[in-house]
Formats: sequence, structure tokens, C-alpha cells
Amino acid sequence: MKTEDLIGVYPFLKRGLNKYFEENKSTSILSFLVNNESEISVAVAQLGKVLEGEEITFSTDPDKRVANYLITKVILTYIRDYFISARYAIKERKALYENLDKEKEPRILKQVSHELNVDIDQQGDRYLIPIPSFLKNAVVFNDKELKLCNQELKDGNVVASKHVVAKIVREAFYKKYMQDVNEVVEFPTEVDNMLKGYVGQIASKGREIRQERANLGPLNEKAFPPCLLEIIDQMKNGANASHASRFFLVTFLHRIGLPNDEILKYFGDVPDFAEKITKYQIEHITGTGRGREYSVPSCQTLGSLGLCYKERDQLCSSGKISHPLGFYRTKNLVNRPVSKSGSVDRVDKTRGAKEE
Ligand code: SF4
Repeated sequence: MKTEDLIGVYPFLKRGLNKYFEENKSTSILSFLVNNESEISVAVAQLGKVLEGEEITFSTDPDKRVANYLITKVILTYIRDYFISARYAIKERKALYENLDKEKEPRILKQVSHELNVDIDQQGDRYLIPIPSFLKNAVVFNDKELKLCNQELKDGNVVASKHVVAKIVREAFYKKYMQDVNEVVEFPTEVDNMLKGYVGQIASKGREIRQERANLGPLNEKAFPPCLLEIIDQMKNGANASHASRFFLVTFLHRIGLPNDEILKYFGDVPDFAEKITKYQIEHITGTGRGREYSVPSCQTLGSLGLCYKERDQLCSSGKISHPLGFYRTKNLVNRPVSKSGSVDRVDKTRGAKEE
């Protein structure tokens, strides 16, 4: 693959970027933005779509792809909004994974991995990943393929398929990207003046979405779906809830606005409760540590994991619910407690949704 094609597919590669800057005679962020001003609007429109939950496709033209990648990164660093950058980074992460998974040249797989601090070695049609690199990036919950106990080990390495390498490298990319765009950067006044006009809309869209989240109202356990109540009951009765159940519980409570400390309280009754580890896991799942913010699983996913109890509720069994949050929203509208503070607070410790 030629360098220009390579950076069209992997726009973050240093070698490609150096060449790109030389050719575009951009010696500073300002000159780069001025030379590519038309692409700023494209990047802003794309971020708007991402925030609306729409799909985006990246240009296949290497020059446009690199310009888009860099401008979006500059904008996200300028806005420094964790929520907005996480939503966008997930799209880049997905594109990288798809490209790596179909990558035919082991040399390129090695190069991309190396730039993301995952040094792999080829061995036949498999790859050796040092165990520390593997563990650092194998943090995706519910992914059996990334559990260390499911790996073949050899001389301090995980012997992995290209598919597993792609998953590990995409996580390394995501972490690095989020770290980069959330760093404090002082932008020169001219850049500040130039970007201000473009990014206002995006920043306020991010605020709007957060506001909408807050509009789910104060905590209303009466509106919890049966699948969630089952997990809470299991934990209250001292049963060991599965990893997938705990993951669902945390994502759900986080999404309806509970702070991490409040989420932690739900774990107090589980037999293997270890505060430090649970805290770490909650931070990881909610993206408040160094992880990314995970979404709440859909009814379909919960059903496939054996965690759906739709027969316990009329609304669920009506087939009109495809997501536990949809259930919560619907029940909340008819059964919303009033909170003067407007903030999320525990309003009811005795749940009654099962009786509804
Ligand atoms: S239908 Fe959805 S919300 Fe209802 S119990 Fe099943 S998974 Fe939960």
C-alpha cells in the first residue's frame, strides 16, 4: 500500500502525517486550518450527526480523510468536552477496527500496533502480544474473546488471531485518542478566534443532550424494568450476580443520572463486595475513570444473555419495549415523583414496579 493510501485508512500514523504536512506546507495549526477552512464545516457537521446518534462515513480520499481526522481532533481538543469526544472517538475506534480486521499486510498491522504502543510479533498466521499490553487493553466488558483465561499463552505473550489483535489495538487507539483530546492545550489567539465561530453549536448541542439526560428526572425505582429489579433482588438476597448483570446495572443507573457513589450503594449486599474493585469497575464502565462510557444494553442483548423477564410486566410483554431505558422513560412519565431540588436523588427505597 502506498503511503498516501495508508494514511487515508489509518490517518493517525506519524509517517503519513509528516508527509502530509510537508506537502500541504502547513507549519502551524493556524496555517493548517486556514489551508483547510472548507473542511472545518464538514467536521462540525459530522460531529453534529454523531451527537444526534446518526451514522457517519469517512471519506475514502486520503487527503480529505487526513484533513478531517486532524481538524476534528483539533476541534475536540479545543472544546474539551469528555461526552462529545467520547461519542466521536467511538466512531473512529469502530472504523479502525474494521480496517484492521480486514488488513491483509502483517507489516501494516505491526506498524499500526506499534504506533499505539502495542508491539506484536507475527508467528505464522497468529500474532504474539505481550501479556501486559494485552491486559492493559483487554478491558471490554462482556467480550469473552478478550478474557485472559480464554487465550493461548507462550513465553509471556498471548498468541492471538488477527481479529483479537484488531480488538486490542482499537482499545489502545481509543484510550490514546481520549487522552489526547482531553489534554489542556493553550491555543493561539488567532486559532481561538477562528474556531470560536464554528464550534459554538457543537458545544451547546452537547450541553442539550446532557440536559435531556437530566430530564429523566429524579431517581424513580418504581419505574425500573423487571430485568433490572431481578438483578437488584438477587444482590439483596446475597446471590452472586453475573458480570453481565452488574455491567447492565451500572450502565443503566449511570444513564439515568446516578453519581458513582450512589451506584456503589447497590453493590453493598453482594457477597464478594470489595469497595475498591467495585469503585474501579464503576468508573471504568461509566467512563469517569480512564475508560469509555458504555451504553446500556438493549432488550435484545439482555434477552440473549438470559436477563430479560418480560413476562413479569404487561408493557414488556406487549412487545412495545426495545430498550430498558424506553421502559423507564414510559413508566416515569406516568409515575414521576416530584423533586424540588431537581437533582437526582433517591426517592423511594421500596420498589413496587413488579406489582404494576
Ligand atoms: S423487555 Fe426489555 S425492559 Fe423488559 S424485562 Fe426484557 S429486557 Fe428488560
